[in-house]
Amino acid sequence: MACRLRLLVLLFTLSSLAFAQENNLDSLKREALAKVESHQQLIQQMVDQIFSYGELGFQEVETSKYVTGILEKNGFKVERGVAGIPTAWVATYGSGKPVIGFITDIDCIPRASQKPGVAYHDPIIDGAPGHGEGHNSGMAVNVTAVLVLKELMDAHKIPGTLKVFPGVAEELLGTKAFLIRAGLFKDVDAVLGVHVADEFGTGYGQTFAPQGLVSVQYFFHGKASHAAGAPWDGRSALDAVELMDTGWNFRREHLRLQQRSHYVIINGGDQPNVVPSEAGVWYYFREMDYPHILESYKLGDTMAQAASMMTGTTFTKKLVGSAWPPHFNKVIAEVQQKNIEAIGMPKWDAADQTLAKALQKELGKPEDGLKDKVEELKPPSPANEPGGSDDVGDISWVVPMVYLRYPANIPHTPGHSWADGVAMATPLAHKGSTAGAKVQALTALDLILSPETLQKAWVYYKDVQTKDLKYTPLIAPEDQPAIEMNREKMEKFRPEMRKYYYDSSKYKTYLEQLGIQYPTVKK
Ligand SMILES: [Zn+2]
Repeated sequence: MACRLRLLVLLFTLSSLAFAQENNLDSLKREALAKVESHQQLIQQMVDQIFSYGELGFQEVETSKYVTGILEKNGFKVERGVAGIPTAWVATYGSGKPVIGFITDIDCIPRASQKPGVAYHDPIIDGAPGHGEGHNSGMAVNVTAVLVLKELMDAHKIPGTLKVFPGVAEELLGTKAFLIRAGLFKDVDAVLGVHVADEFGTGYGQTFAPQGLVSVQYFFHGKASHAAGAPWDGRSALDAVELMDTGWNFRREHLRLQQRSHYVIINGGDQPNVVPSEAGVWYYFREMDYPHILESYKLGDTMAQAASMMTGTTFTKKLVGSAWPPHFNKVIAEVQQKNIEAIGMPKWDAADQTLAKALQKELGKPEDGLKDKVEELKPPSPANEPGGSDDVGDISWVVPMVYLRYPANIPHTPGHSWADGVAMATPLAHKGSTAGAKVQALTALDLILSPETLQKAWVYYKDVQTKDLKYTPLIAPEDQPAIEMNREKMEKFRPEMRKYYYDSSKYKTYLEQLGIQYPTVKK
């Protein structure tokens, strides 16, 4: 009897403990939301500031300096130049378990310069890079979330560690495999990634853009000679490029339908009367999973080898990027979905809708404006759904990860273009980023305060996701990050772009600094 009583008391204590914890979680969540709201000006400044920097992959110097500065000022310890990448870093706060990672991209798109709030093509600087994907808003989401979490952890003595990572050169699929190789995710228990979208949602399994790839440049080396006077003395590197491409295009007919491959000739020689001694071609080999990506890549090498044999040239290659198809964690996605539903879509006003519809009209798309409902939890995509690639895929294979799509852009934009920059330093993006920051903070609290959730996430990772397929990097041990990429392009435009960097000490918003009426639409 005494024993049973003790058991009852124990059960009661346990359940009241759980109750207290749950209540605690609810009140912490309320506190988190209020704190995110109180950071709205910072969110606006971060979105606008990074938009104005418009830096291409591997050249995110100002962006990284700015973001790490904010984190350092708030007590985060920053390690710079990680994994041999000058613009990569890790910012850490707190101590002990769990360790929650936050990642989002910071690079922009070539030739995507665009005045924000203007619903037609109107570049700030013609030909310059710009945030034609909306990566400028991601750090506003993640940094706000971690600052809020830090305040809560301090105030309530909650143990745990926060780690912030930048997605450097995501547009080149250029860095995640190297961050992993440098061991940066070894002690991380879960990663909450975010990416800008025109919707509010999350998913699990291979959820979107399910392809992975290698991005590799082949350089052929021949012998120069006078193309008319002594062609027999020359060996054309351009011939090798053309034969490689021809070989690949014939072989393409006999590849799986799931593959996608494309190339550009990056060097075709100098002038016709000189037999080109140097030429180069840049390939993307995309497939649905690691074994098939590797198979494609090896076939590419075979084509290059054969082309060099046919032409009496030699070749070298450089891996520029690689990405596993992402696979997101079901357990964390379900938790995140509840938070998305609790927060709901931002409250768009007439100006936001006017901008969205005017841009949609300009693009010849349905003029249905901004979305007003959050998405349902997205199950794994069908195996044959083609798409782009994202090198966060690699991270999702080494630690349970989810990828929040937050609503800071306009539906029906083409992606990777000036049109995708139109909303990205306007109230529309500020509101969407605020909503995203809320979900990031809430989901992190769920993980920090519920060890069971994290444990279940790892069970999914081990017993479902990686049961039959384990992570092997697509990069070889000798491959190094392509940190020289985009240097010349950025150097060409940076002096002019500098004149348009956002000065938040003088102007309330970037729109105000540029003197743009929000929204500006064609009459
Ligand atoms: Zn992106």
